[in-house]
Formats: sequence, structure tokens, C-alpha cells
Amino acid sequence: MAKKTVLPDARVSPRFAGVATFCRFPLPEQVAPENAPADWAVYGAPFDGGVTYRPGARFGPRAVREASQYVKPHHLEHGVTLTETLSIVDAGDAPVAPYSCRETQDLIAQWAAEGRPGCDESTKMLAVGGDHSIALANMRAAWRRHGSPAGGLAVIHFDSHIDTVDTIWGETHQHGSVFRRAFEEGVADPTRMVSIGIKGPLNRADDLNFAIDAGVRIITHTDWRADGPDRLRDFLSEIAAARAYISFDIDAVDPAYAPGTGTPSVGGFTSAEALTILRSLAGVNVVGADVVEVLPDRDPAGVTALLAAHIVFEILCLDAVRRAGS
Ligand code: MN
Ligand code: MN
Repeated sequence: MAKKTVLPDARVSPRFAGVATFCRFPLPEQVAPENAPADWAVYGAPFDGGVTYRPGARFGPRAVREASQYVKPHHLEHGVTLTETLSIVDAGDAPVAPYSCRETQDLIAQWAAEGRPGCDESTKMLAVGGDHSIALANMRAAWRRHGSPAGGLAVIHFDSHIDTVDTIWGETHQHGSVFRRAFEEGVADPTRMVSIGIKGPLNRADDLNFAIDAGVRIITHTDWRADGPDRLRDFLSEIAAARAYISFDIDAVDPAYAPGTGTPSVGGFTSAEALTILRSLAGVNVVGADVVEVLPDRDPAGVTALLAAHIVFEILCLDAVRRAGS
């Protein structure tokens, strides 16, 4: 019997009323015994001390919670009802140390790997940022819970930026170095990682070399328009059932569709393309994920937060599709 997520009935308790949780998911302590342990815990990581340009993503989790009130549970294209297939909670916000990126990464990783009511070590963690530096923390937690001593997690990374810089302003821990640190720590496997939506201009011609040399498959935004879907399909068949982590930096989407972000890069995916690419990941064994870099102060009409909320939904639905098919 699949576990379920019990949502408030929108025809009784309107979507615009009550205290906002992600997608109206219950809090951990509200999960009925038959739905425990939860399959997924969505949580906020309100930290933006790792940015190289415009700060403000610390307000991302609140904005995404608010925007996510309008996310409905049935996925039309996949034909699955998320809440009938998985038990999901809003685990609240992880602790942060606003003046320290490293300390925040340690705090979040520790917190995300801990048990809580209605959850156990099988519960998968989806972090809503926050800047991209919080992804290292959630990858550590995902690896600790679901990783294998045989190697780091496979990674499906959406971004305009490669995020494998060694240091920025002398600092090793910030949002531009998350994947390099994850490779060094062994939580992510560069030979089983794809970065989708990468765009120029770059600081230097060789900015992508470290990732390419490490084995990361790069599908630039321009590649995507040519043979990107085929290359992604090939990558997915290579990683097969490997434990995979999805990291979605909202700046992979064009600022025309997702203006609320701190390092915008023009000429990216439309919202519809981003959703279509995510749907093409059906079948992947997702064991953790993040959606990062939403900056509400630059987000007129809340469209970026609304998109981020739907990306959270799309990622969770990938696991629902997998469970429904097994
Ligand atoms: Mn980026
Ligand atoms: Mn990034």
C-alpha cells in the first residue's frame, strides 16, 4: 500500500487561508502513523551568505512556500497523483549561521541527516534555497542517507553556471564551488554528472575545463537546442538506476521567465522547456534534490517563486512515477 499525503481539502479550507507550508504538505508531527516514515521532506535553507553578486535568496523559502499554495497534486502529463503515491512533509527550515557559509553547510547537513517525527533515515530530503551553496549540505545529507560506499551520487544539474570554481575571493565555500567541493568530499561523482543549460559569457575561456576534465557532461543551452535531448537520454541510460541527485538553480531559466535571481544570465530555457526537461527524467532514481537561487526582491509578480514551486512538484512527481511503476 502506498503511503499518502493528507492535504487540506481546498474546497473546504481555501488555498489562500491558513499557515503556508510547501504545497500545503503537513508538518512532520502531523503525519499519521500509516503514512510514516514520510517518503520526502521538503525544507527551507534560508541562507545567501555564499553569493558572488546580488544577495536576497535567504528570503527564497518563504516566497516559494507562499507561491506553492497554488500547486495541485495531480500531474496531468505523468498521470500520477503525488499525494496518493508518496507521503511528503514540510520539515520547516534548517538552522543557518548567517555570517558563515561553511558553518551553515555543516549545520544544514547535520540537520538534514537527523531524524524527526514522522520521518526516518529513509526519508529523502528536498532543500529549497537559499543560494546554491546550500546544495553541498543537502548532497552530504543525501549521500549519508542513500549513498553507496562504491561512489558519489549521480548528479543532474540545471544552471547557467558550472559551479566548479576552486576559490572566489580566496574562499573555497560559496555558491560557485559547490560541485568541486562535493567531488572532493566524495558525495558527488563527476563522471556521473550532467550540467544542463550552461551559458556564456564566462570570466575566462578555460572556465569549464576543470569540470570537463573531471568527466562532467556539459549540455550548454545552445547544445540543448541542437541535440540536447538525445545527449540527456544517453546520459540517463548510462546512469540507469544509480542514486541520483537533482540540483536546480533557477537561473537556468531565462530571466524573462525567472527574473527573481541573484546572478541572472540571459537566453535560457523557458518555463515550459524547464518543465518538459524535468518530465523527461521520469525513471531516474532520485534520492535528494534542491531548488535554489530564488531572490524574491527581484521577482515582480512572484513568477520565479511560482516556477520554483512547480519545479519542486515536478521533482517529487519523478519519484511518484517511479513508485507507481514499480
Ligand atoms: Mn547559476
Ligand atoms: Mn548555481
